[in-house]
Amino acid sequence: MATRYLIIGNGAAGFSAAEAIRRSDRSGVVTILSEEPHGFYSRPGLAYFLTGTIPEKQLFSRSERDYRALGIQRIQGRATEIDPSRHAVQLAAGGQIAYDRLLLAPGAQAVRPKVPGIELQGVVTLDNLDDALRILRLTRRARRGVVVGGGITALELAEAFASQGLETHYFLRRDRYWSGVLDPEESVMVEEQLEEEGIRLHRNTELAKVLGRGGRVSGVETESGVRIECQILAVAVGIRPRLELARSAGLATERGIRVDETMRTSEPDIYAAGDAAEVLDPASGSYMLDSLWWVALSQGRTAGDNMAGGRSRHLRGVPFNVTRLAGLTTTILGTVGQPGRDDDLVSIARGDSNTWREPGDGLTIDSGPSQSRIRLLIGQRQIVGAVIMGDQAVSRPLQSLIRESADITPIRERLLTHPDRCGEVLTQFWRAENEALHGAQS
Ligand SMILES: Cc1cc2nc3c(=O)[nH]c(=O)nc-3n(C[C@H](O)[C@H](O)[C@H](O)COP(=O)(O)OP(=O)(O)OC[C@H]3O[C@@H](n4cnc5c(N)ncnc54)[C@H](O)[C@@H]3O)c2cc1C
Repeated sequence: MATRYLIIGNGAAGFSAAEAIRRSDRSGVVTILSEEPHGFYSRPGLAYFLTGTIPEKQLFSRSERDYRALGIQRIQGRATEIDPSRHAVQLAAGGQIAYDRLLLAPGAQAVRPKVPGIELQGVVTLDNLDDALRILRLTRRARRGVVVGGGITALELAEAFASQGLETHYFLRRDRYWSGVLDPEESVMVEEQLEEEGIRLHRNTELAKVLGRGGRVSGVETESGVRIECQILAVAVGIRPRLELARSAGLATERGIRVDETMRTSEPDIYAAGDAAEVLDPASGSYMLDSLWWVALSQGRTAGDNMAGGRSRHLRGVPFNVTRLAGLTTTILGTVGQPGRDDDLVSIARGDSNTWREPGDGLTIDSGPSQSRIRLLIGQRQIVGAVIMGDQAVSRPLQSLIRESADITPIRERLLTHPDRCGEVLTQFWRAENEALHGAQS
C-alpha cells in the first residue's frame, strides 16, 4: 500500500521535504496541510515586497502547476492536535487526517511584549504574507508609525513604514542596534543609514503602554512618560517556535521540537524541521536553534529523505546570512557574538542564528573606518566568524574559507598587522588555494 506522508506547514522546510519525498517515493501520497491560503513563497522576500522593491507575485517561486507536477496534495486548514498512537491529526474545522509518516514544519511566531494595549488594532507583527498585506493596508491610512524591537525584522518594518511615507519612530531599549551580533561601529553604520532615510531613532527608550481610541492604536507611551501619537505600532522583539502540536503529541520539546540529525523527534514516525526544530549538534552535544531560510530548506530535505526511507543526516555547517541592514548589504558568518545581552530581543529573531551570539575564541580585527567594513574573528589556525558590511567582494571567499575551516597560518600574521588590507589578503589567499586545489585535481 502507498505510504501516506503528511506535512504540516507549507514553508521552506515543509515544501523542500515534499520535494525530497517525491524524489525517493513516486507512489506515496504526499499531503501538505497549511493554515495559509497561499502556495510556497519567500518569507525573507516580504521585506522587499513591503518597501515596494518587488511585486507580490515575485515572492512565489512555485506555481500550482509545480504542485500538480510533483503530485503533492495541498489542503488549507489548521491542525490542532496529534494522536501518535492512532497516527492521526485533528483539524480545527473538524475531521482528521491519518498518516504513516508525519513532518512538523509549523515555523515560529512573533512574540508580543506584555504591555497594556498590545491587543489593539493597529499593533502588527511580521510572520507571513497576510501580515505584510495587512501592514500595507494600515500604512495607507496612517501618518505616523512606531517600531519596537531588534534584529533584522525591526529594521525591515521601520524601512517599510518610511517607504510608505510615514513619519517613522524606532525605539531602542538601550543605546545601540542589534548589540548581541554587531559591534558598536557596525551598529553606528546601520543607525546612520536609518537616520539618512528619515527614520527617527529613540535610544534608551522602552515602550510602557499602547494607547487606544475606539479599539485602535492612537499612540504609545514610553517608560519615562513621553507620549507619541501614532496610528500603527510594529513589534519585532523575537520569535518562538510553534510548539503546541508537538506538545499535544507528547514529543520532547525545549526551546524547539527536539530532533536528532536525521530530523526525527522522540516519536519514531514523526519528524520536525525548520524554525520549529531544535537540532542536535553531535559535535557539541547541544541543541541548536536557527531561523534561517537555507537551514530550513536543508533540514526539510533531510527530513523528507529520511521519511521516505533514506539515511540522510543534517550537517549544520556554519550559519550565515547575506541580508540588507538599512540598505547596507551585510554578510554574517560563524561566531561573531558580542558581550552582554541584546535587550531589544527576548529570543532569537528572524534571519538569526544561536551561533552568531556565541563569543568566539580568538582575536578580533577590523578593516577600519570606511563606507564598507570587514570584521574577522581569528582563531589559532582558522577564521571562526566574520561580519562584512557594504562592499561584498570578500563575502564569497570568506564563506568558503570559514565553511571549509581553511588553515590560514600563511596569512595570519599579515591579517593581524594589516587589518585595513584584510579584504585583499583574504581574496588572494582564497584564489591561490582554489588554483592549488584545481591544479591538484586536474
Ligand atoms: C520577515 C522575515 C524576514 C526574514 N529574513 C530572513 C533573512 O534575511 N535570511 C534568512 O535566512 N531567513 C530569514 N527569515 C527566516 C526564514 O524565512 C525562516 O527561517 C523560514 O521561512 C522557516 O521555514 P519553516 O518552513 O520552518 O517555517 P515557515 O516558513 O514559517 O512555514 C510554516 C508554515 O506552517 C504553517 N502552520 C503553522 N502552524 C500550523 C498549524 N497548526 N496547522 C497548519 N499549518 C500550520 C504556516 O501557516 C506556514 O505555512 C525571515 C523571515 C521573515 C518572516
